Amino acid sequence: MSILEVKNVGKRFGGLQALGDVNLSIAENSCHAIIGPNGAGKSTLLNCLIGKLIPDTGSVMFDGQSVLGRKPHEINQMGISRVFQTPEIFADLSVWENVMIPIFAKRDGSFRMHAFESVARERKVVDGAMQMLDDVNMADKRDLLAGSLSRGDKRRLEMAMCLSQNPRLLLLDEPTAGMARADTNNTIELLREIRTKRDITMVIIEHDMHVVFSLADRITVLAQGTPLVEDTPDRIKGHPKVQEAYLGE
Ligand code: ADP
Ligand code: MG
Repeated sequence: MSILEVKNVGKRFGGLQALGDVNLSIAENSCHAIIGPNGAGKSTLLNCLIGKLIPDTGSVMFDGQSVLGRKPHEINQMGISRVFQTPEIFADLSVWENVMIPIFAKRDGSFRMHAFESVARERKVVDGAMQMLDDVNMADKRDLLAGSLSRGDKRRLEMAMCLSQNPRLLLLDEPTAGMARADTNNTIELLREIRTKRDITMVIIEHDMHVVFSLADRITVLAQGTPLVEDTPDRIKGHPKVQEAYLGE
């Protein structure tokens, strides 16, 4: 069963064809990696899935419903969350207050900033946030200011913020970018744990092949806005087209 169907998606920026003709089918509860050289169109594709960009052509169906034409917060309410390349956390709030914000935002259909105002009110949201922090092994850090966290913990917090919305599809754009090896390995462990604890589909864009091969069930190689190959990690390793696409980096 596929949960996400991308058909013939194209996106042009002025004279640049950022996405050519992208077809992608993501199986429910799988982890699907998208790799490819810089500028291949990976982030553009992700932005088309979350309503930040509207493709010029094609369709994007999530669980049988079109996401095109919907606003980012509506798509979020459908069950799609995204971990950003740079963590989007509120530095002046504590760790546990941060985790409550997306819970409110999803319920009220408002943006995170608006939800911020109603955060402190409800106890069951507090409980949900605490459970979430426990799940990402941050319960002992819940009273620290988010801004004071290490880079790895900020990433972990953002993951908790996304997961607190109980998404069915989690999109991750280079979640280990700029991380030291130890934090990268922690992130791999965390994502693996999340997959064992809940039903969730992950689409991960990642440069670090160690991360890709540790997590992905299937891999799509994107080059110049078009999928070159899609296959299992074992078959992607050493694939001549993959080598070729990376030589230009
Ligand atoms: P990737 O994430 O694979 O590195 P991107 O999707 O960010 O690649 O970019 C694909 C191409 O589209 C690049 O050539 C990039 O410069 C261009 N691009 C991305 N976003 C925009 C934009 N908002 N306006 C113009 N060009 C863009
Ligand atoms: Mg990118």
